[in-house]
Amino acid sequence: MEKSVCPICMGELEIIGSRRRYSIEATGSRQTLVVRRMRCPNNVCRKIHHELPDILVPYKYMQLRSWRRSSRRILRRFP
Ligand SMILES: [Zn+2]
Repeated sequence: MEKSVCPICMGELEIIGSRRRYSIEATGSRQTLVVRRMRCPNNVCRKIHHELPDILVPYKYMQLRSWRRSSRRILRRFP
């Protein structure tokens, strides 16, 4: 499995658990994603990070696009 590093101190992260996240696709079907929880072993840092699956990034982009479109529609109605 691919190793992750802490974005703050670049220490190698240790997996401490996982969490389920749900995302709704454009088709309306729900998808379950497992996001790993990781802790930085560096005693100075000790930050907890959540691994963000690549699939959530294009999904967020789509949400932003539809939000922009609907806000533009509202602005047109109230100039
Ligand atoms: Zn760290």
